[in-house]
Amino acid sequence: MLNFTVGPVQAESYIQEIGYEQIPYFRTPEFSEIMFENERLMKRFAKAEPEARVVFLTGSGTASMEAAVINVFDSTDKLLVINGGSFGQRFVDICRIHRIPYIEVQLAAGENITREQLRNYDDSGITGVLVNVCETSTGVRYDLPAISEFCCRNGAFLVVDAISSFMADPFDMQKLNVDIMITGSQKALACPPGISIIVLSEKACERVNVHNAQCLYLDLKIALKNGERGQTPFTPAVGILRQIHARMKAIERAGGVEIETKRIRTLAYDFRKQIKDLPFEIITTTPSNCVTPLRPLTNEPSVITEILKKEYEIWVCPNGGELGKLLFRVGHLGALSFADNTVLVNAFKDLQKRGII
Ligand SMILES: *Cc1c(COP(=O)(O)O)cnc(C)c1O
Repeated sequence: MLNFTVGPVQAESYIQEIGYEQIPYFRTPEFSEIMFENERLMKRFAKAEPEARVVFLTGSGTASMEAAVINVFDSTDKLLVINGGSFGQRFVDICRIHRIPYIEVQLAAGENITREQLRNYDDSGITGVLVNVCETSTGVRYDLPAISEFCCRNGAFLVVDAISSFMADPFDMQKLNVDIMITGSQKALACPPGISIIVLSEKACERVNVHNAQCLYLDLKIALKNGERGQTPFTPAVGILRQIHARMKAIERAGGVEIETKRIRTLAYDFRKQIKDLPFEIITTTPSNCVTPLRPLTNEPSVITEILKKEYEIWVCPNGGELGKLLFRVGHLGALSFADNTVLVNAFKDLQKRGII
């Protein structure tokens, strides 16, 4: 199968090979060294300040979204949640479950947030903002500089879910004044799912350390403390952390995160150019480089995704729920090439010839 979903994505063979090895015991100086280097490289790739810290949590991306929220906010806060799809809704659900007051900015599928919209919430007591840089369900990449400016004007704490956008789009944690940034192992890191990553600014660490988190497993205080010696409080997904290590070292050797971002962007642009004459509409004018959200003009998304899977052995990414009737997505993360793009585009052209699209 050729995998164009947005996670898990295709891994390079050197990552697959590590997956085949035995899992070593981890309460060792050798494993601590790997974790120190993971933290160092993650900080460099996120352009985090020198005092920033990184927590590698064993759990999918949602575990880190929940951990971030419950370790810095409580019932005395008033959050602004940008909700333009499934992942914005997830932040809403987290606030609701943990009884953290919030206001939702609801956006249509693919719609970006504007400075004018944000201005409506100036001086309204907002203490924090939750946003998914790329709302992966629709592919829109939000205007992070505008959101960052809103947070600076209002003294609000900025939590950014960059799970799908990290390394696909340029990102500078310091320039954007981001307090907490989140990513995961199964997106552009192109490793197996199971580890999610939280980068905390110095200010965020201070806040975590005085906060009373109501959860043992997701208590970031304990994680930060253990991290000082390159360890985790509980048994982590050791194998995936070793794969992340190999992957980040390879990106560093190849010239760093900018080169990886350029590679992904070039693939995305190539794909978008190749489908120009096909009966699809890209549903946002500001897509992330990580994914192209396509509304088929001539058939149901599910019909197309099913035929691609069964007859062409290609996975593209269907949407769930109501959005599933509107669009499907083509991811650009992981070990994909221009030749792979052409295989997919040729399959689309074949579907067109057969009268399916
Ligand atoms: C993939 C993704 C997540 C994480 O989802 P999990 O299934 O919990 O790993 C969260 N936010 C965004 C924007 C994502 O793309």
